[in-house]
Amino acid sequence: MKQLNQSFEKLPKDRIADFCICCGSKKLKNSPAVLMPFVAERVFNWKQIKIDKTWGLNTIQNGQTYSICNTLLCSKCNFVFLDIRFSDKELSNLYNNYRGVKYTKLREKYEKNYEKRNRDLIKGITYLDEVEKFILKNTKLPLSILDWGGDTGKNTPFKNHSKKIHIYDVGNSKTVNGTIKVSKSNLKNRKYDLIVCSNVLEHVSYPSETLFDIKKNMSLKSLLYIELPYEKLIIEIENKKKSYEDKKHWHEHVNFFSKKSILKLLKKCKLKLVDFRKLDVAEGNFSLMQIVCRKDFDQ
Ligand SMILES: [Zn+2]
Repeated sequence: MKQLNQSFEKLPKDRIADFCICCGSKKLKNSPAVLMPFVAERVFNWKQIKIDKTWGLNTIQNGQTYSICNTLLCSKCNFVFLDIRFSDKELSNLYNNYRGVKYTKLREKYEKNYEKRNRDLIKGITYLDEVEKFILKNTKLPLSILDWGGDTGKNTPFKNHSKKIHIYDVGNSKTVNGTIKVSKSNLKNRKYDLIVCSNVLEHVSYPSETLFDIKKNMSLKSLLYIELPYEKLIIEIENKKKSYEDKKHWHEHVNFFSKKSILKLLKKCKLKLVDFRKLDVAEGNFSLMQIVCRKDFDQ
């Protein structure tokens, strides 16, 4: 098997991925797709435009432009991902003032009725009690907590039952009462009982980089709670009902994890699995992967 011959602690960061960022395999398949116009404009300032006869082109037909990309599949671990890997600067273009006025206006331009959806998203998740129950199977309160990518802290578990709650987030949202926003420099040499990384890894270009960063704030006793969307397409690929070629468009979720791929990634990052479950939410319309892990002793 062709494999990336490198440690996951320092990966080569090419614009277009040529290896699986979960397991390192180079056995990738690809299929054409489009980058959604909202993402293309917010990340790259590539605006959608209509081509008409005034362009004077001979070999191109008139019509709406779309930014093209590839859907990649790792044949070894069923990880499905966008071939374009955004740089840190590009990710900050996308996530600064996340769901703020400018973001919402641009998104409404391309995606009608986004504003209403945004209002629902801002209200927060409805399954926080399920998250808390799952984590408590493996630990006891009170806990010192770091919510990595926790935004305002509205979805942070155990808000009224914890020693302290720190939020680290690249965005610039104000955090809710009972939580403290921290920067990378505040995090130096700090360890937490529980680190929460919910709905983050599907957005980042190199999830292993995020996990190695998080590990710096873990002791051998710390738990890490990871939550990811269990995308419908992945469930259908795992059940052999659909193919990666059915993924025709890419939006903010640039990584679609299969169960196998996230478990391989944890291993590459020397994290030991403690617990895993699939949780159905929103009346079964949406599924999540919930994972509890800890630092591996053998390092
Ligand atoms: Zn893979």
